[in-house]
Amino acid sequence: MTINELRSRGVRFLEDAENDDAVTDAFLLLEFVLRTDRDHILAYGNDEVSDEQALLYDALIKKRAEHIPLQHITGHQEFMGLDFKVSEDVLIPRQDTECLVEEAMIETEDGMRVLDLCTGTGCIIISLAKYKNDLKAVGVDISYEAVAIAEGNAESNGVEVSFLQGDLYEALDDHNSSYDAIISNPPYIASAVIDTLMEEVRDHEPLIALCGGADGLDFYRRIIDGADSHLVPGGVILFEIGYDQGEAVSDMLREHGYRDVKVVKDLAGLDRVVKAHRPFL
Ligand code: GLN
Repeated sequence: MTINELRSRGVRFLEDAENDDAVTDAFLLLEFVLRTDRDHILAYGNDEVSDEQALLYDALIKKRAEHIPLQHITGHQEFMGLDFKVSEDVLIPRQDTECLVEEAMIETEDGMRVLDLCTGTGCIIISLAKYKNDLKAVGVDISYEAVAIAEGNAESNGVEVSFLQGDLYEALDDHNSSYDAIISNPPYIASAVIDTLMEEVRDHEPLIALCGGADGLDFYRRIIDGADSHLVPGGVILFEIGYDQGEAVSDMLREHGYRDVKVVKDLAGLDRVVKAHRPFL
């Protein structure tokens, strides 16, 4: 069997299973099995595959058809041009979250103390630490498993970030309690909406990484309240938000006296990030 024949079989199988990304997913799984890239697959489509490769590919295609996220099959996700290990214990990094990192790149300077709350894979703080110089970077997550994954991701990407386990600011102690920037992509989906999510997300990603309480805003409230004791005057706070949460989160920040509250849209034109500065006085 040739590469092209195997790939076509994968596409058909996924299409029959009503996967909307059948072509893309069939390509990505083939890249994974053949340990190569798309260019190679396109250029050498008439080459033969081994029986073992065909068997493995078909098995992985079957998993994907059962709605197991592609990233759980390959164990990896690219984010900000970097590679991140993922598992069922962490949220899979989303491309939309690159918008938050890009805003953080604008708002932070080399050498700053930056805290990432609900760090998950660590994708946000690791990317920031990679593209800035000498950040004093700290990431916090309530999940021990997430902290272990984030530590591995920092190491494989060659950056220094301290990861701490705990419930938001409770993870901090006297040595690391004050920051120039606080950044977070917290769980922000309202509990009633969880049931309506895609099967891939609802049944395979951790509920604690998704659910933000009855109105989805619990973590913004808690993070903004706690920032009074951990963000320096003049410091910046940046959140990823759901498309309909810009106004509610902006209002919370203004009520806490924050200045220059701005909502930033993502590439799809949807509200995606809220950022603001803590006043000096
Ligand atoms: N900060 C991580 C990310 O953006 C995890 C977010 C979460 O678990 N809600 O991918």
